[in-house]
Amino acid sequence: MNYRLYIPGPVNVSEKTLRAMAVQPMGHRSADFVTLYRSIQPGLQELFQTREPVFVSTSSAWGVMEGAIRNLVRKRVLNCMNGAFSDKWNDVAKRCGKEADALQFEWGQPVDPEALRTRLASGSYDAVTLIHNETSTGVLSPLPEIMAVLREFPEVFSIVDAVSSFSAVPIAKDDLGIDLLLTGSQKALALPPGLALFSVSPRALERAQSQPDRGYYFDLLEFAANHEKGMTPSTPVIPLIFALKSKLEDIAAEGITTRHQRHQRLSQKVRDWAVARGFSLFPKAGFESRSLTCVANTLEVDLPALNRLLKERHGLVIDGGYGKIKGKTFRISNMGDETDASIDAVLHALDAVLPEATPARTAS
Ligand SMILES: *Cc1c(COP(=O)(O)O)cnc(C)c1O
Repeated sequence: MNYRLYIPGPVNVSEKTLRAMAVQPMGHRSADFVTLYRSIQPGLQELFQTREPVFVSTSSAWGVMEGAIRNLVRKRVLNCMNGAFSDKWNDVAKRCGKEADALQFEWGQPVDPEALRTRLASGSYDAVTLIHNETSTGVLSPLPEIMAVLREFPEVFSIVDAVSSFSAVPIAKDDLGIDLLLTGSQKALALPPGLALFSVSPRALERAQSQPDRGYYFDLLEFAANHEKGMTPSTPVIPLIFALKSKLEDIAAEGITTRHQRHQRLSQKVRDWAVARGFSLFPKAGFESRSLTCVANTLEVDLPALNRLLKERHGLVIDGGYGKIKGKTFRISNMGDETDASIDAVLHALDAVLPEATPARTAS
């Protein structure tokens, strides 16, 4: 059961990364672990564009997304919502006992900075959540413009999910004034699932100190205190930290700018292919993700049949749409290590099976 994944997470993992994980565990309070932990900080800080520590959480992204709510939302949070993950964050905030309001945009639309400014002007909020790249709809929201609005409201803390855009597009955490920036391992970084990475502002740590029920596992102050010792609060998934170290070497060898350009080029290639075949793109024009493509299924392709043919004949898998747009859209990832050759391969395979999965159109 070995298929090549082109779904927007988890994504295909390189042989080098897999080999990097094949290590005996070490004590997580040992000098060897401290060396490992400290060795990944410079590369992570460069990617986060931060002078602050980058914390390593053994959890999926949702752990930190929930932890961010518990540590940083005092009373009321505004959730920017334009897809499955950002909509869900509103529900999660309520489950954490917070007052949480929706700033809802239609799926396929980006978050509009002007609409955000209007809502924040009410003075009701102390935090905002934002998903930079809505993976369910393939929409990249304009982060610099959104952060410019947030900087007009210094009492409002910004919590930004970059799970599927991190390292694919530049994100200047410190310069933009992001209070908590997070990502996960299995999407844009092309590591196996199980790690989340995040970095916070100094004022976020201050606010956490006066939060009564921030819990233990995702307590920012525990992460900060352990970081000083070169450690994590509890036993981390050490093989994945070795995988991350290997990945940071790959990123440094490629060059961060070259990596960004590669994602831009490969996503453009998929978009061009989709449009040339007569599909339209699901995201609003100009806000398309650079790490995945969400194609509107305007040709009414039988997506389960398409994926069955892709799997049986070509050994690869794309995504047949997520949440309420399942079947109406399909998604192709170009995250992580994808190359011109690997993207050409999935597009050629799609061309080979599309006619069989597309209903015959009768000429009218
Ligand atoms: C996948 C995804 C998540 C959830 O990640 P988990 O690792 O499953 O917790 C959150 N946000 C975005 C944008 C995602 O793509």
